[in-house]
Amino acid sequence: MADNHKPQLDNTSGPIAFQTEIKQLLNILVHSLYTKKEIFLRELLSNASDALTQMRFIQQTDREILDPSLDLEIRIEIDTEGKILKISDTGIGMTSDEMKTNLGTIAQSGAKAFLDAAEGDEKGLVDVIGRFGVGFYSVFMVAEWVKVTSRSYQPDEKASSWYATGADTFEMGTTNKETRGTCIEVKLNEDAHEFLDIHRIREIIKTHSDYVPYPIFIEGEDEQINQQTAIWREPPRSVEEDKYQDFYRQLTLELEEPLEKIHFVADAPLMIFALLYLPAKLDRGLFTLREQDGLKLFARKILIENYSKDLLPPYLRFIQGVVDAEDLPLNVSRESVQATAMINRINKILTNQVIQKLKEMASKNPEKYLNFWAEFGQFLKEGVAANDNNRDELSTLLRFHSTTMPDHWTSLDEYLDHMKPGQDKIYYILGDDESSVSRSPHLDYFQTHCYEVLTLTDPVDSFMLLGLREYKEFALQNVAASDLNLPEQSDQEEQKEQEKPPSLSDEAVNGLIDNFKDTLGEQVSDVRITDRLTNSIARLVDAKGSLGQEMQRVYRMMDKDYQIPKKVLEINPDHPVLKKVSQLADDDHRRELIVEQIFESALLIEGLHPDPASMIPRIQQLMESALEGD
Ligand code: ADP
Repeated sequence: MADNHKPQLDNTSGPIAFQTEIKQLLNILVHSLYTKKEIFLRELLSNASDALTQMRFIQQTDREILDPSLDLEIRIEIDTEGKILKISDTGIGMTSDEMKTNLGTIAQSGAKAFLDAAEGDEKGLVDVIGRFGVGFYSVFMVAEWVKVTSRSYQPDEKASSWYATGADTFEMGTTNKETRGTCIEVKLNEDAHEFLDIHRIREIIKTHSDYVPYPIFIEGEDEQINQQTAIWREPPRSVEEDKYQDFYRQLTLELEEPLEKIHFVADAPLMIFALLYLPAKLDRGLFTLREQDGLKLFARKILIENYSKDLLPPYLRFIQGVVDAEDLPLNVSRESVQATAMINRINKILTNQVIQKLKEMASKNPEKYLNFWAEFGQFLKEGVAANDNNRDELSTLLRFHSTTMPDHWTSLDEYLDHMKPGQDKIYYILGDDESSVSRSPHLDYFQTHCYEVLTLTDPVDSFMLLGLREYKEFALQNVAASDLNLPEQSDQEEQKEQEKPPSLSDEAVNGLIDNFKDTLGEQVSDVRITDRLTNSIARLVDAKGSLGQEMQRVYRMMDKDYQIPKKVLEINPDHPVLKKVSQLADDDHRRELIVEQIFESALLIEGLHPDPASMIPRIQQLMESALEGD
């Protein structure tokens, strides 16, 4: 019977109830059918590693500590007879009180979140186990019972022990552990005997815990199991490519290889080692370890922060990796002036490295760069929008579609190369999608005269434009602006213009404008004619003094109820449809239908029509009258 081997605790406390959420958690874990139970070892090793790191911190403060010369390490013992796996560390250990709170009476805030996430989704379990700080309890997926023995680094504290089976209570007692640290004995249940196999244990450590920054030993073996080299501290040229890949996998648990790595050592103005990765995809994998943005920050190989968000500007938050700073003070608050100044300097160095890497990729391997752009382009646009010193450099990295090359990604430099003689602006059009933008009346003039226009259809584009008003001294110009000064035509083109058929008389034009104003009333702020249109009948432009289209879009994105200001309807008096409308008899009912339809079509193409389906009855009426004569 298993119970024969149940460890006896000295001076036992008797059963102590687990906190409610932990009870529920244990209940799920004990009955878990999850197949990757091996992750329990990763969790225990990571706890041991945390305890060792804290110990390292404390050692820096010359406080009085137990066993100051003890090596910081982790040992694993396999007792095949007794079916017990033993994991010991020489970390900070726990006092009796700490053990009681940490392992049973106070649920980590993550426990509740874990329970919510795990609800109804057994398979999703593992993703959330480590994430919610319920790591220790995952051992109950494989344990018949668990005994923890621990002795705090504080010299006056005595060792104590803890015992639980995964049921609703645990027990505590005293013990006589001589040395500092924590020892976790796991009596493996019937289904978990694979974890008594030394090869299996090795393999798990290699997969999940190779870079635990302390040596891991298996009892009876001489060599340390984990690789544990801080590869970011090695000279970049000496590291083999697959080591970089391995490290990325360790760091992120992403299955996909990174798109690019940036490994560099800087010694001036600061000594830093950095190994950064550009992921291949924006979406993180299912098993990702990195549940937050941020880089791992070390000071002389000691982990200071797991998700440091200050080391790169926010728009580069998709980058993963580690930074190790030689001179970062360990025991000074990181909010201090000294630390902040240093972090800002590191930020500057890293940002520059990333931008140079991207520029290099864009010029040497444009195809790869476009893969990057497809996933992360929006972040660079965000960077351009943010008022940043690097805006000019970032602008060279932007890529857009344009009217002349809708399937090609063009850079602003390429655009400048294609400009027509005399052109002094970079033209763009804003819209919701490529297909409606390509039909926009605002393009009439530019297409007739073969000007390239950038088509900006990404929601973040309006933000980007707020920060990008010019590029290499060429202003960016929205083609939808009504007060746009058009480039002068060459003689040839001007001639073509003059060959146009005669326009309507002034009187007829005024009559048309009155028709539109009467029919549309308050829906528009004004109606007027324009010479900008060729194939289109009409277009909507912003009234003088109203907010630019870019700001309107930004407002609309931030506030769904934002009302786009009323627009001016500009009509093309040379268009055959309007010529015919002006000839209709005063009482012809088609006039009103056509005017309304022209206006609503213009709304539609601007992406402003609140209810396109409502146009159907009118279109039907127009079809009927078109067929009336037959
Ligand atoms: P987390 O590690 O995410 O905080 P766990 O449930 O894994 O959550 O562990 C709970 C707590 O128990 C830890 O925060 C730590 O205070 C303590 N603990 C666990 N393992 C050890 C250990 N090996 N040495 C010292 N303290 C530990």
